[in-house]
This record gives sequence, C-alpha cells and structure tokens, in this order.
Amino acid sequence: MRETAERKRIDSPGGIFWENIIALASTHLLGLGGIAYCVLVRCSVWTWLLAAIWMTLCMLSVSAGYHRLFAHRTYRCAQIVRIFYLLFGAASGQASILRWAADHRVHHAHTDDEKDPYNVTKGFWWAHVGWLLFRGPPVDFRTVRDLQADPWIRVQDRFYLPIAVGVGMLLPTLIAWTWGDAVGGLLIAGCLRLMVQYQITFSVNSVAHSIGKRAYSTAVSARDSWLTALITMGEGYHNYHHRFPGDYRNGFRWYHFDPSKWWVWILSKVGLAWGLKRVPAEMVRKACEAVLREKAPAEA
Ligand SMILES: [Zn+2]
Ligand SMILES: [Zn+2]
Repeated sequence: MRETAERKRIDSPGGIFWENIIALASTHLLGLGGIAYCVLVRCSVWTWLLAAIWMTLCMLSVSAGYHRLFAHRTYRCAQIVRIFYLLFGAASGQASILRWAADHRVHHAHTDDEKDPYNVTKGFWWAHVGWLLFRGPPVDFRTVRDLQADPWIRVQDRFYLPIAVGVGMLLPTLIAWTWGDAVGGLLIAGCLRLMVQYQITFSVNSVAHSIGKRAYSTAVSARDSWLTALITMGEGYHNYHHRFPGDYRNGFRWYHFDPSKWWVWILSKVGLAWGLKRVPAEMVRKACEAVLREKAPAEA
C-alpha cells in the first residue's frame, strides 16, 4: 500500500517536476564536468573504453530490452538476458520497466494526440525533453499487467533507484578504480555516458517524429531516417516501427542499420532468444503501396 501512496504522490499531475529537473541538470553538469576532467587531467584510455562498453550495454538494454522485448513483446528470451536488460536498463536512468513501458504503450495507442506523453504536435522540444519537466497525468499501470506478473520486473520497479545508481554510477567507478581512475569512471562512464545516452533516447521522441520519410504510414508523425538510426541503435526507422510495432526489427531491410535487430538475431542463433516476430514482406509491400497511392491520388 505504501507503494500505491508513493505512486500517487509522484504522479499527481500539474506543476514542475523538480525531481526530474534536478536529476537531468546534475547529470548534464557532471557530464560536462567529465569533459573538463579529461581535458585538464587526461583520463585513462581504459576509462574511455569502459564508457563505450557501458554505453553499448545500456543502449541495447533500452532498445532491445525495454522497448522491443518488454513494451512490445516482439520476441522472447532467456531469464539471464531479461536480468541483463533489467540491470542496464535501470542504469540508463529512464525509469523502471513498468513505468517506461506504460508510457510507451500510451505513446503508440495515442500517437500525436493529447494523451501521448511525448506528443510531438506540442513542439519538438516538448517531445525531446519538455514532457519530462512537468508532472503528467498518473501512469496507467493497467496497460502493463502482463509485465507486473513477472516478479523480477516488480523487484526492479521497487528497487529502481539503487539499481540505477549502483549499475549506472558505482559499478563503473569501481571498475575504473582498479586502474587508478575512479573519478574518470564516475564522470566519463557514469555521467557523460548517461548525458549522451539521454540526448540519443530523447531524439527518438523528437527527431524521429520530425525528420525523415514516411514510407509505411502517413497516419502518424513518426519518420524513418538512417541518420537517426545510426545514433539510436536502429530506432530511427520509426515510421516502420509505428506501422508495425509487433516486429522485432525497426530496420526492416537486411541492410538497414539496426544493431538492436542484429543483437536479438544473434541471441536467437545461440539459443538465448526465440519467437522473433516478423511482419511478412507482402504486408510491408502493401503498406508502402497504400502510402504511394495516397501521395499520388490522381494516378489511382
Ligand atoms: Zn514514436
Ligand atoms: Zn515502440
């Protein structure tokens, strides 16, 4: 019951969301501090390598884990992979799986309308970060009952903050301490990594709803762009994703840059993932043709 009261307090709508503002501002300030530390102190090359590894693990956990596995259930995987997503997804500082997936499912059900948490029709910067700075309506956990049934996901929700700080900040600090660069571990692999990751994730809600092509559906603002895909682990093929959210691929064609898709495919080849859902090529072709007919009504 304490949890319910806590959620009501956190979710009460209206007003400035100071906790988020302080968390985002301090992450960005410390991330910039990390750049200054490197310029002034010259941190170890191993620290940069650690930051790159942490970035990759965290990005995969959000894209292939939070997004494609938990929010959309586009494939199934072994418990060890789910726990990896649970740990490094929390380290990405984007809320627990339950809250993230609940928001995201509403985003898909109400894209571009008033209920969309990161509604781009309210402006690019609103979709990018503005929506996080103000308290929204209570999160509707009824949309994530399937996820609530998993005890590991409930534990992650309950202990989200210690997991986020532990895996996102303390662990890289400890690892870098072994080569004498604990400060670099915290500022570069912890804070600067998180700052960059925030900007990349925010871009999926802003840039991927503003720049690019709409080859599969013109019903929503979501767009496909290889450039956005390049920085977002493949999430930039966002028009395809909104048209076919049940597909584990966002980059539908084999040459589309979608490392999250390749990661899931590799997992399936070593027996750690299965039940990968793919939309038949024929259905994709029909969606493209419908968009072409819309764009050239005179020729129809
Ligand atoms: Zn979207
Ligand atoms: Zn989605």
